[in-house]
Amino acid sequence: MEKIIFHIDVNSAFLSWSALKLLENGYKKDIRNEISVVSGFQSKRNGIVVASSIPAKKIGIKTTMKLTDAYKIYKDLIVTHPDKEYYKKCSNKMINYLKQLFPIYEQFSIDECFVDYTSMKKLYGDEIKFAYKLKDDIYNKFGFTVNIGIGNNKLLAKMASDFEKPNKVHTLYKNEIKEKMWPLKIEDLFMAGKKTCLKLRSLSINTIGDLANYNEDVIVKIFKKQGKMLYDYANGIDDSLVINSYDDRKGIGYSKTLEEDIIDKSIIYKELNNFSIKISNELKERKIYSKTIVVTIRYSSFQTFNHQMKLVNSTNLSEEIFKYSKSLFNNLWNREPIRLIGLRVTDFSSNNDIQLSLFDENNKVIKDKEIDKLVDIINKKFGNETIKKGIK
Ligand SMILES: [Mg+2]
Repeated sequence: MEKIIFHIDVNSAFLSWSALKLLENGYKKDIRNEISVVSGFQSKRNGIVVASSIPAKKIGIKTTMKLTDAYKIYKDLIVTHPDKEYYKKCSNKMINYLKQLFPIYEQFSIDECFVDYTSMKKLYGDEIKFAYKLKDDIYNKFGFTVNIGIGNNKLLAKMASDFEKPNKVHTLYKNEIKEKMWPLKIEDLFMAGKKTCLKLRSLSINTIGDLANYNEDVIVKIFKKQGKMLYDYANGIDDSLVINSYDDRKGIGYSKTLEEDIIDKSIIYKELNNFSIKISNELKERKIYSKTIVVTIRYSSFQTFNHQMKLVNSTNLSEEIFKYSKSLFNNLWNREPIRLIGLRVTDFSSNNDIQLSLFDENNKVIKDKEIDKLVDIINKKFGNETIKKGIK
């Protein structure tokens, strides 16, 4: 049976959520209907546009544009700034609602998520009808609009939600790829970066269809692993699963009861290294990344202790998992004989994207050019307005 996956994406999330906040605070205008932007910086005019309203987009004010340039286009531009806490609140409201409806649910970013509808069809009926109802329910309950993309895998659902916006439901089933996805320009393909697209265009690959019908071996030869992925995507192939966020707490982990009580650190390191390799393989197999690492020590007294750390960037690399597990172990170990050692990772996501803070006042030190580049990467990958914290 073909899968049915939904991708639910808040339209101009930061702009919409800022509009709601302003309305709540008594501001008379709904900035979604005005020429307005959310700008990443607290300082006056040297920031970049993080989100722009539909009327702003219409006159050419776009995400990643410098605020100074936006003012040049429209001098009475309404500018507001991101409010991370408020955005999180809005995001959580939607997520908690979706969690009640769907047992298999994956948050992809602050304003995007996937749900696996396949097994829900029996309960909720036709997916298109349900998607329309869901979209309207979200608007009526929370005051912001979403696009819902429906497809037979995550890639197709994600591509579908990117079709015409806002407040729309689109399908992109396997049998619609040719008609709906292949005519799109190559830059519209999920994960196709600017540089890669330039190269592809130099090969006369101008549309997604051009890539899908190109010689696969040539693509792989030139673009290696990424080429294979893009070639598959262009053909609508994606076998990654909707990662159930509810599984997060359990995580992936291994532990070993040692044959004798151990005080030799090198033996423990060897075990941690083995666990790291196994965990890394499992993460890679499931095409996921982990953000939290937990080390467990049980002493010969049977007292058990856990120590965990959250990484800045998610990982699936054994070297990294091993490195952090060693440092966790060293912080935790009290030199008593050890009976059991365990290592577990949790807090999964399907990406380990570079993360960027537009909320950090210190990020003035990052050159505009670099920010633009990062914002570009992130937006390309995850749709507009998806900007998360991180780099300093
Ligand atoms: Mg969005």
